[in-house]
Order: sequence, then structure tokens, then C-alpha cells
Amino acid sequence: MRRPGRKAALLALAVIVLSCAALWVWLRFDVLLRPVVVLRGADAAALLRPSLAARVVDRVGRPVSADSRPRLIALSFDDGPYPVETPLLLQTLRDLGVPATFFLIGRDAEQFPDLTRAIAAGGNEIADHTLTHPNLDQLGDRAVQAELQAGAAALERIAPDPAERRLFRPPHGRFTLATIRAAQAAGYDTILWSDDPGDWRSIGAAEIRDHVLRRARAPEILLLHSGRQATIAALPQIVGRFRRAGYAFVTVGALLRRTSAEQLNRPARLPLE
Ligand SMILES: [Zn+2]
Repeated sequence: MRRPGRKAALLALAVIVLSCAALWVWLRFDVLLRPVVVLRGADAAALLRPSLAARVVDRVGRPVSADSRPRLIALSFDDGPYPVETPLLLQTLRDLGVPATFFLIGRDAEQFPDLTRAIAAGGNEIADHTLTHPNLDQLGDRAVQAELQAGAAALERIAPDPAERRLFRPPHGRFTLATIRAAQAAGYDTILWSDDPGDWRSIGAAEIRDHVLRRARAPEILLLHSGRQATIAALPQIVGRFRRAGYAFVTVGALLRRTSAEQLNRPARLPLE
């Protein structure tokens, strides 16, 4: 009589342990739990370290309907400028009639000021990717702020922008809560992304395109890199497919003006395959 009871208890215990483990994995490995943007006035801790309750609500709540979100997409290109790829990228964007946001490294912009001016002249937005592209998660608050301010100052000297240059993206996507708070204290909005196809790896145009279309969201901030020919080659098909789905292409700055941080941080899934 006792044996089956003990077996049942052990089985129940095993089920509970496995369920807890599955729940932990499910909550822990949701890439979208990372915010897309952390604006100057936002509660950075709430966005970067949501409570377990907030995670559960986010995961089990009703999925965000695509109709409730604007079909806006911002292409963002990190690093550079580069003497070979940047002119090619600018020509491709011009041909497609698409503006983009370029997160430039201050030192590289200083090395190629004409390319930097050409980016701005093409109707694109130039944003801050620090002066020297360090790992900001390893720097103190003062050093983080110095990198941001020196990067912005370098860009401002080359391509003055009447609007404040306050959009920033951390190099290598490496940051901590302290990094974001230091950026906020210096007056910067941290811009991350809603999709990263990993084009910095040596992958081909078809792989980049397939990833982007499969993971499409509304609204979207797409992380790309400006030194990759495969990325440039993937653009016409990506742009065409998003346009057929009713998307408009805008800069990150325009996206922030046309939608809310809440919508950007909780985009709707909208696969375009
Ligand atoms: Zn970078």
C-alpha cells in the first residue's frame, strides 16, 4: 500500500521540479525581455531587470496584436564610416529611397569626415556610438559619460545637427544598468534593437534577409553593420518585403517621435515570410 503512494509522490515532485526548471528557462531566455530603447526619463531598472511577476504577465498575457502597432521600421547601421562600404551603402539607400540611422564611431568619423558629411547629406541621421568603441560595461560612470560626450562632440564638429545629438548605442551591445544610468544622467537615450540578424558574423545576404523577415516586428529597429557587403546586398529584398506589408522606413529619431517607448519595447510579431 505504501509503495505506490511513495512512487506517486516522487513522480509529483519530479513533475514540479521539471516544471519549475522549464518556467525558469522560458522566462530567462526571452530575448525580447531586453528593452529596445531606454529613454532619458525612463525607469532603467524596471526595463532591464523586470520582476518575475512582470515577466510572467509579459509572457502569459495576450499577445500584442499587429494592428495595435504602427508599421514603422528604422534601419540602423553601427560602426564606421568605411571608405569602401559606406559609399556603396549610401548609394543603395538612395536608390531604395530609404533613410537610415548611422551610429558612428567618433574616431572613425574624424578619420573620414567627407564620408560622415555624405551620410548626413543623404538625409540620414548620425548618432553616437562613442569616441573609441570601448566595452562600456567595464568602465566607470565618468568614463562612460566622457566616451559619449567626446563621440558626440566629434560628430558635431564634422556634421553639425540643429537637433540635439542625443541617441546613443553601446558598442558590442555591452552594457550594464550602471552604463544606461550614466548615459541617462548625461542626457542620452540608449537605443538598442528589436532584431539582430548577426550580420557582423560572416553570413550571406540570404541568411540575413531570411532572419529579418522571419523575425519581423512592428515597430522595428533593425541592428545592422555598415561595413558588410552582404548586408548591403540583402537590403533591396528586405526593403521591398517590408514595404509590401505596409511598412514605412524612418530614422530612429523619427520613430521616437511617431510612436511611444512602450510600443517600441513591446512590438508585435509580424512574420513576413
Ligand atoms: Zn559597434
